[in-house]
Amino acid sequence: MAQPICVFGGTFNPPHLGHVRACLEAADEIGVNQVGLMPSKLPPHKGTAGVDEHDRVAMVKLACAHSDRLFAELIELTLPAPSYSVKTLGELRQRHPTTPLVFMMGQDSWDNLPSWHEWESIHQLAHLVVLRRHGEFQPAKPDSRLTALAETAGTTNVRHLHQQPAGCIYFANTQLQPVSSTTLRNALAGNDENKHEFQLTDWLSDSVLHYIKEKRLYV
Ligand code: ATP
Repeated sequence: MAQPICVFGGTFNPPHLGHVRACLEAADEIGVNQVGLMPSKLPPHKGTAGVDEHDRVAMVKLACAHSDRLFAELIELTLPAPSYSVKTLGELRQRHPTTPLVFMMGQDSWDNLPSWHEWESIHQLAHLVVLRRHGEFQPAKPDSRLTALAETAGTTNVRHLHQQPAGCIYFANTQLQPVSSTTLRNALAGNDENKHEFQLTDWLSDSVLHYIKEKRLYV
C-alpha cells in the first residue's frame, strides 16, 4: 500500500505541543510516518497578531525539529494569496497525481468547514482526518451538511486512507490537548507566567518559547 502524504494546515501562531501531540498520535493511528506542518500564507479568516510569515515559519521549523516524523511543508507560502486549502491541496494533487493525500484538521476546523472556499471539493482532493478538540470548540448543533458528508464519506477503516487517493473522512480517536494558540498568545502578553493555570513550558517547546522570548513576540 502507498504511504499517504500527510499535511496539517494552520496558522501556527505559535505552533504548540497540542498541534504536535495530536497530529503525531493521529498519524500513529492511521499508520502514517511523516506529517508536514503546513503554515498558511494570508489566512482569509484570521489575523496574524503582528507576527510575520518569517517568524511563523521559523517557529514551525523549530517545532518540527523535535521529531524526525515532522517536517515543515511550506508549499502554501509559495502560492498566490489568499491561502485556500482547496488551492493548496489541488497543487499537491497535481504534484502527486495518484498518491493518497491526507489533510489533518482539528474538530473546530471540521465544524467550520462549510465556511471554507469550495469546501465540498476539499475531500475530493485529500482524505480528511479530524483530530479531537476540547469542549469549548464543540458547536451547539452540528451542521447538517457535515453530518451528511460524514455519513457518505466517513470511514473507520484506516486501510481506505492508504488504498484510495482521497475521498474519505476519518475521525481520529486522539487524546484531547486542551490548548490553543490564542490561549498561549494571551498568556505571553501577560508578564507573569504564574498568573496562568498552566506553565508556558507545558505547551510550548523550549526552542519555540526561546524564539518567542528572544524576538519579543506577542508582548
Ligand atoms: P488559534 O487559537 O490562533 O485559532 P489554534 O490553536 O486553533 O490557533 P491553528 O494554527 O489555527 O491553531 O490550528 C491549526 C490546526 O490545528 C487546526 O485544524 C486546528 O483545529 C488544529 N488544532 C489546534 N490546536 C489543537 C489542539 N489542541 N488539538 C487538536 N487540534 C488542534
